[in-house]
Amino acid sequence: MSASSKTEDLVCNFSRFYILTILYEAPQHGYSILSTFKDRTGKEISPSLVYPFLRQLEKKYLVTRSLKPVGEKKKKVFELTPKGAELCEKLFKRFSALVSVAIESSLTTCASCGCKIFEGAHKETVNGKENAFCCIHCARSYKKDQIRNGESFRSQLNCKDDNLIFTL
Ligand SMILES: [Zn+2]
Repeated sequence: MSASSKTEDLVCNFSRFYILTILYEAPQHGYSILSTFKDRTGKEISPSLVYPFLRQLEKKYLVTRSLKPVGEKKKKVFELTPKGAELCEKLFKRFSALVSVAIESSLTTCASCGCKIFEGAHKETVNGKENAFCCIHCARSYKKDQIRNGESFRSQLNCKDDNLIFTL
C-alpha cells in the first residue's frame, strides 16, 4: 500500500472528511472546528476524535498548528498545508463523482436549458402540463418559445375571429 493511499484511508471516515472540508474553507482553532461541525451536521463530534485526528494530520504534514490571536486570547489555529489542500481537492473530486452517480438518476432536468436541478425546481404549468425549470428566467424563456411555436398562432386566429365578429 502506498503512503498516499494510506493517507486517504485515514480520512475515509465521513466525520474526518468533514473536518478536512471545514479546514479547507479557512484555518480554524479546535473549538471552532467542533462548533462548525455541529452547526452543519446537527451532530456533536467528540474532541477525542478531532484532536488525535488533527495530530495525525500534523504528523503527515497535512496540517500545521500555530498560535494566533483570536479576540483577546491566543489560540492554537490549525491550517491545511498545500499538501493537505491538495489531498482535500483529490477527495472532493472522488466524493463528488460518487455523489453524482448516486443522485444523477433522481435529478430533474430543466425543461428549458436541460441542466440538472439539484433542489428547489421552479415549477410552472405551461399548456396544461407541469414543467420543472432551474430558474424563473428559464421558465420565462420556455413560455415565450411555446407561445412563438403556435400558441400565439392559435390565439391570433381567435383574435381574428373576434375581429370578424365585430366587423360583421
Ligand atoms: Zn434552466
